[in-house]
Amino acid sequence: MAALFGPSGNSQSFYDEGHKSTAEAPDWLKERGLDAFEYSFGRGVRIKEDTAREIGNGFAAQGIVMSVHAPFYINLASTDEEKKKNTLRYFNESMTAAHWMGAKRVIFHPGSAGGENRDEAFGRALDFFEEIVDEIGSLGYGEVHLCPETLGKINQLGTLEEVLQLCHIDKQIIPAIDFGHLYARTAGGIKGRDDYKRILDMMEDELADERARNFHIHFSHIEYTKQGEKKHRDFKDEGYGPDFAPLAELMAERNMQPVVISESPTMMAEDARTMKDIYLKVKNSL
Ligand SMILES: [Zn+2]
Repeated sequence: MAALFGPSGNSQSFYDEGHKSTAEAPDWLKERGLDAFEYSFGRGVRIKEDTAREIGNGFAAQGIVMSVHAPFYINLASTDEEKKKNTLRYFNESMTAAHWMGAKRVIFHPGSAGGENRDEAFGRALDFFEEIVDEIGSLGYGEVHLCPETLGKINQLGTLEEVLQLCHIDKQIIPAIDFGHLYARTAGGIKGRDDYKRILDMMEDELADERARNFHIHFSHIEYTKQGEKKHRDFKDEGYGPDFAPLAELMAERNMQPVVISESPTMMAEDARTMKDIYLKVKNSL
């Protein structure tokens, strides 16, 4: 077993070559030697069961592992009853769509601290997430794991520590570590091997199980300001970080088996392949 690599959504080149639908993506990705795909429901879960199953079967036939991204509107810290109801619905719909597609992971954004006291907002988020995990359990989709993601803007909930706390609620919850987002919210704080090591060691200490090695990764280069994340960047855009190579070394040395998803804005498949090549080179030299 090894790490798996793939894009979030389809590259610009996929459409430039005349492809129109994600149903055509499995063959395209297979030809490029990729092994994972993240389907985004960022703007809402709008898919019929038969379409979802068809897409899922296509990826399964090529041995490509699927994950889905839940709507961006989820906010675990909301105090508004209507918004809380919607958040629960987004979780329900994302889990159901993932189940239809055969996707094992649902990635979601924990939400926002707004202008108020961060600890209070996060305390509320933890309580609400516990309720959600209970509710979701009744769907009976035990094979689908919820994955809270580290977020890139400083006023968003989703520091590494916060994501690990959300994962403490249940062993089924797997962290989604977006290294670009961590880099942006710490103003470029991931500079090399030692910084990655510190993150991975903290995960090992906090989780103390295979989730610390087989978690979900989002990786892209990123532009940031004082407020954190500004814009994801393709690898070809010069002058942005973080550098993937030191992480690849640690992944290989520690025998980690994460799913690594590229969230580059236009070259996600190409950049996923670049990461896979970097990783395989280190792994084969060990
Ligand atoms: Zn995300």
